[in-house]
Amino acid sequence: MARAYNFSAGPAILPEEVLKQAQAELLDFNGTGMSIMEMSHRGKDYSAVHQEAKDNLRKLLNIPDNYSILFMTGGASTQFSLIPMNLVGEGQTADYINAGAWGTKALKAAKKLGVKVNVSADVSKEIPARMPALENLQFTEGAAYVHITSNETISGAQMKEFPETAAPLIADMSSDILSRPLDVSQFGMIYAGAQKNLAPAGVTLVIIRNDLAEKSPETLPDLFQYRHMMETDSLSNTAPTFLIYMIMLVTRWLLAKGGLEGMQKINKEKADKLYAAIDKSDFYKGTAVPEYRSTMNVTFRLPSEELETQFIKEAAAQGMTSLKGYRSVGGIRASIYNAFPTEGVDVLIGFMKEFEKKNS
Ligand SMILES: *Cc1c(COP(=O)(O)O)cnc(C)c1O
Repeated sequence: MARAYNFSAGPAILPEEVLKQAQAELLDFNGTGMSIMEMSHRGKDYSAVHQEAKDNLRKLLNIPDNYSILFMTGGASTQFSLIPMNLVGEGQTADYINAGAWGTKALKAAKKLGVKVNVSADVSKEIPARMPALENLQFTEGAAYVHITSNETISGAQMKEFPETAAPLIADMSSDILSRPLDVSQFGMIYAGAQKNLAPAGVTLVIIRNDLAEKSPETLPDLFQYRHMMETDSLSNTAPTFLIYMIMLVTRWLLAKGGLEGMQKINKEKADKLYAAIDKSDFYKGTAVPEYRSTMNVTFRLPSEELETQFIKEAAAQGMTSLKGYRSVGGIRASIYNAFPTEGVDVLIGFMKEFEKKNS
């Protein structure tokens, strides 16, 4: 059975080399006679994995020393609540830039906790999808933080630059973490669910400036506190060891590929080709404003929903799976994360040309 060209938005494709390595070590990790998932999270073999995962991330993203790397659970969605719980002080307001479905969820989670929220910009319902212009954003003086979603996975709009803010900038980077180089010092905190660009689902990466982590109220449950997670190196209870091991393998793979500059170049080439194929035709229509088009989630429509259904079905029969857009928006979404091979993009483009010829 050949590997599918898996365009899933998440859980998403993982590098084949990484899966093979995990398979090879599955029964016997490092001559221990057991799998990495069967051993203590406090033993020396696992400790080396935990450390390497962090070291690789620090290298790839050039993470400064005054930031901590945390491995948490509950997905990015849990962070939507933990951020306000940890970081909004007495009487403070939290600012949100809402650019789509994920930004809306983050905002709602804060409101649910009774936090005072200010929406600095809202482009969440605009079609074609976009990110807000960075001028004229309405920030609150003394805000606890400004929250953004760097890549709206559902709409296919991506921030190309980040706002300059007086308050700490917090970014949900679930669907574009490690897809391009970043200046981490621009952010107070970055977080990402693993299942798009990092590892299988079940672990959440948090990169947080230490002075912010220190703000966690003592009254919060320990495992909800950034400070506690920082002080215990994410090992106060049993860590999701296999998933952190997968992060280690994926980050090793990225370093071997030339780091994030190398990855950004490949990602741009893949996305540029696919958008060019869309723009060349009158049959396909991109659904994000060109300057904000995501390099990770390429969204487009066909002339009718019937044709979209047929497109998805015929593509699947040729080994191109999960091209259906998110259930609430429809259309086509080709997610082409780091691990998605360039060859798969070429195959999709070839199929698109054939499909257009037959159906227009
Ligand atoms: C997938 C996704 C989430 C949700 O992640 P979970 O780990 O399922 O909670 C949040 N934000 C963005 C941008 C996403 O793409």
